[in-house]
Amino acid sequence: MRHMPIIPRLASPRGAATALVLAALLIGPSTALGADEFPAGFSGYHTYAEVASAAKAVETAHPAIAKRFSLGKSYQGREIWAMKISDNVGTDEAEPEILYEGGHHADEHMGVELALRVMRWLTDGYGTTTRIRNIVNTREIWIIFLANPDGAEHDISGGKFHHWRKNRQPTPGTPYTGTDLNRNYGYRWGGGGRTSSNPQAITYRGTNAFSTPEARAVRDFLASRVIGGRQQIRVAVSFHESGRLVMWPYGYTYTDIPIDMTRADHLALKAIGKKMAASNGYRPIQASSLYITSGTTRDFLYGMYRIYSYTFELSVTDYPDDSRIASETSRNKEAVLYLAERAWCPLSVLGEQVRLARCGAFDDDLEVFRGWTYDPDGTDTATTGKFSRANPAATSSSGPKQLTDVPSGSRGFVTGGGAGSSANANDLDGRTSVRSPAIRLSTAPGQRLFFRYVLAHGANSTSADRLVASIESSNGTRTPLITLTGKPADVDGVWRSVAASVDAWAGQTIRIHFAAVDAGSNSLVEVEIDDVRITRGS
Ligand SMILES: [Zn+2]
Repeated sequence: MRHMPIIPRLASPRGAATALVLAALLIGPSTALGADEFPAGFSGYHTYAEVASAAKAVETAHPAIAKRFSLGKSYQGREIWAMKISDNVGTDEAEPEILYEGGHHADEHMGVELALRVMRWLTDGYGTTTRIRNIVNTREIWIIFLANPDGAEHDISGGKFHHWRKNRQPTPGTPYTGTDLNRNYGYRWGGGGRTSSNPQAITYRGTNAFSTPEARAVRDFLASRVIGGRQQIRVAVSFHESGRLVMWPYGYTYTDIPIDMTRADHLALKAIGKKMAASNGYRPIQASSLYITSGTTRDFLYGMYRIYSYTFELSVTDYPDDSRIASETSRNKEAVLYLAERAWCPLSVLGEQVRLARCGAFDDDLEVFRGWTYDPDGTDTATTGKFSRANPAATSSSGPKQLTDVPSGSRGFVTGGGAGSSANANDLDGRTSVRSPAIRLSTAPGQRLFFRYVLAHGANSTSADRLVASIESSNGTRTPLITLTGKPADVDGVWRSVAASVDAWAGQTIRIHFAAVDAGSNSLVEVEIDDVRITRGS
């Protein structure tokens, strides 16, 4: 059925949008938005309406573990359907979370089919397969089936393919329609490569980051999964087509480990990507090895939240007929399940030592915001050199004091990140403090608070200059656990690490509290902190 009049090429976008709204009001959304069918040979693919009803049917059949919901509306007013799959699905449990999503690109219909298959594998398999039951019981899985419903419907309008990739939002001030949703996300938006500022281009990035309602809906959903300062989603895959590739971040640069990635993350992303590729037979590459992109979901998920995010490019060719759906989706089943299993601690793929160090109750390389609060008591006295999470500038005074290279990535807590006009222009004077989000310690023995630090000071320092790490119980009691003090000697900046047992708090919910104090009369004190962890004993 023909659904919408083609917008005249020179009509103003505002006029077109108004006409669309009027049409919807006059003849009802179902008629105005149309309901198209795939061409002959492709009817095994799900239309927008069929995606919605398939998800509804699964929710009805599995109400204890499946819940359909909408992320919000597309430009033309379609719901962007999603599903949560987990035991106790109505409760937000403290379980690692996984995101699978398809349909950012309207003409990549196989990705939508894989998203639907993931839903079926997890729900149909729940009662029959121990492995899937374990995943559903210990994880919260989110599936976005079709992020670009307007584009997908347009692509099949009139029962033929239109090779339409973008959404259906007119670009203001131009006669052109459509933004590439997978260039519209707000991490390094607007970069080069296959990312265009030309509204006519199929890779048009939009007027600004998140100019599309579809990308905003996904962005807002992701933000809603930040609980207590921590992003709950650990791993994600975006399903695209074609090329049979497994791709990890980044797409914006050819560099393997740029400033906004840690070496450990790179190694784990690559190891997990290769493992998945070994099972689905796709080629594992860093995304930029295909071509440079910016503003993608994959880069946003990792760059913004450190979600271990992948892109799968399904199929050998574009528009494979529906006889290919079963084999192309099923070859991804092992990869999908494997990634869900890895979600509890993706870094553990790097081996036993990394598992013990990085998979405890808390792990923060301080590269992204993870819920710390500065001056939690409101009693700090420092006017300069207050803690901030920063990429520190180097300072020097009778030798290096503040070091510019942090142990992991590019950021740490620093007392005054800038260099200033002299070494002590931005150093600490007084007291500054920062407190972690709540941390639930396990009951197992052998857990330790670990962190790396620099404590540098001038020759006039005393033991009153100090860095104190305390454990704060849920009742607010704060117990100093590690105290590092100055002395009357010139001490240059060196990164060191320290650890102490937190067995006294096993099974409790605690917070880590750091206080740095320069109590002397304007002595030079620089403190830096990185890699704050609760490590495991076993
Ligand atoms: Zn794509």
